[in-house]
Amino acid sequence: MPTLREVPAEAEIASHQLMLRAGLMRKLASGIYAFLPLGYRTFRKIEQIVREEMDRAGALELVMSSILPAEYYIASGRWEVFGPEMFRLKDRNKRDFCLGPTHEEIFTEIVKNEIRSYRALPLILYQIQTKFRDEIRPRFGVMRCREFVMKDAYSFDRDEEGLDVSYRKMHDAYCRIFDRCGLDYIVVEADSGSMGGSGSEEFMVKSDIGEADIAYCEKCRYAANVEKAECIPVPCCMDSEGDASAGREDVSVERVATPNVRTIEELMVFFNSRPDQFAKTLIYRADDKYIAAMARGDREINETKLKNFLGCIELELADSEAVKKITRAEVGFAGPIGLDIDIIIDREVEMMKNFVVGANETGYHLINVNVYKDFKPTAVIDLRNITDGDRCPRCGASVSISKGIEVGHIFKLGTKYSRALNCVYLDENGQERVMVMGSYGIGIARTMAAIIEQGHDENGIIWPFEVAPYHVIIVPVNQSNEVQVDVAENIYAQLMKEGIEALIDDRDERPGVKFKDADLIGIPIRINVGRKAEEGIVELKMRSSGELREIKVEDVPAEVMRIMGECMGTRGK
Ligand code: ATP
Ligand code: MG
Repeated sequence: MPTLREVPAEAEIASHQLMLRAGLMRKLASGIYAFLPLGYRTFRKIEQIVREEMDRAGALELVMSSILPAEYYIASGRWEVFGPEMFRLKDRNKRDFCLGPTHEEIFTEIVKNEIRSYRALPLILYQIQTKFRDEIRPRFGVMRCREFVMKDAYSFDRDEEGLDVSYRKMHDAYCRIFDRCGLDYIVVEADSGSMGGSGSEEFMVKSDIGEADIAYCEKCRYAANVEKAECIPVPCCMDSEGDASAGREDVSVERVATPNVRTIEELMVFFNSRPDQFAKTLIYRADDKYIAAMARGDREINETKLKNFLGCIELELADSEAVKKITRAEVGFAGPIGLDIDIIIDREVEMMKNFVVGANETGYHLINVNVYKDFKPTAVIDLRNITDGDRCPRCGASVSISKGIEVGHIFKLGTKYSRALNCVYLDENGQERVMVMGSYGIGIARTMAAIIEQGHDENGIIWPFEVAPYHVIIVPVNQSNEVQVDVAENIYAQLMKEGIEALIDDRDERPGVKFKDADLIGIPIRINVGRKAEEGIVELKMRSSGELREIKVEDVPAEVMRIMGECMGTRGK
């Protein structure tokens, strides 16, 4: 239990700091951590909750290897799709392998070889196993690391209706898991991204340090990842005089000198107008092709939507060299007129009238531009990020945006992997049919960190009973007082007999040090054995509320059990 007094400089967020300070884990390399005994106890408890709920849902546990042959990922196309995120290696015979980043292909391969008949379906298999992803930006400790344990489950069904049932089972199991972990979470619609398939949801723990943005509607409870949330275009037809009813399309494009005016902010000052009178044009590299994407000046382009539309593997902003070549101008003056690459515009841009764009000429912008009249977009799509105050795509009320930590993700995969790997079964009529699949993941250590994000104070972690490394910590105040040590040992033995997980701090340290450490490691109940031990009285302190009271030694086990029953009973077990 090597606790630290100092806050480690590398750790920016509470859970990362506390996991290091409480001696739960240590860093070995960027995004690579070892769990120490105290941390591993909680880790295993979360694993066990996940296991119990998977078993309850009828899933069967197995375990795959971590080193996986390339061929299955080549067959699905993901050998390429994963790009540099995949850890790759060659064996002595120069054959390609990877360290498994996720196992859709491998489960599909196993099931394909073992299951022949419709009678064996549906089937849900899962494992709790180490995954490897060479993340671009490992950060926040075990929240985003490069080696991490995931529970991944895969369902195999005869048809879409079957998939719906399996998916619902996993959805409900996830709710029970995160309820039991004591988390405040919401389920949001998510992008299926490179996984393919027809639908997916993420389990988001509400937290300001979360990396995901969630759009939420109070009125109809619609919730979606901003990557996915559909945007209702807001018409804006202001002309240069600020007249909202304007529609003066008879005006023609004019070239205006705008020396050193590049950003939307600079343009607003220069033209003395609002950001929604500009359309920005960004040049992207999509695999080996360049494209232009346009949105209103005050909007953010949603790269997930753009990527899904283009169906490309890699998408990134073009570098300045490429921008200069394509626009024949310095960066900051790109516009749609005269570009000879595809131009994808947001639906709002189509509605804009007489707006300002870059002129593809250094130091110039064009005013009075209108879509169709002045340039022809390749496609008009929903291309922007939803923002605070936007209208809910379901009910039209106003949505708000908040941050979340994605702890779990469930997907309807459909037949993407079963088709690629020819995972088929024979139906009642002896007809060969492709299995319909789902995939379901939970990050164990990320869940652990999320529990700490939601459960801590300035003194340390506040574990819920379900995942606390121990339920009770007994602190003999003076280790050289024999009565105190005896009473402490006695309480310890009593608790252990009742199946309560107790820890006794028998270090020869000052009481202040022991109390501080007990608070830091977040054990829910602390029993202080001090001077009154001679009268058979000890103190019971609740970590969560700070409530402290005296209690008779012989009442300790019953009182601890009562408290635990009360706290754990309120969870959705
Ligand atoms: P993210 O968007 O955060 O990168 P993902 O969509 O790549 O996550 P999935 O492939 O759906 O994640 O993985 C399932 C679960 O595994 C996630 O919900 C998360 O709990 C966990 N997970 C994913 N990547 C990491 C990571 N780098 N470190 C720790 N846990 C992770
Ligand atoms: Mg990821």
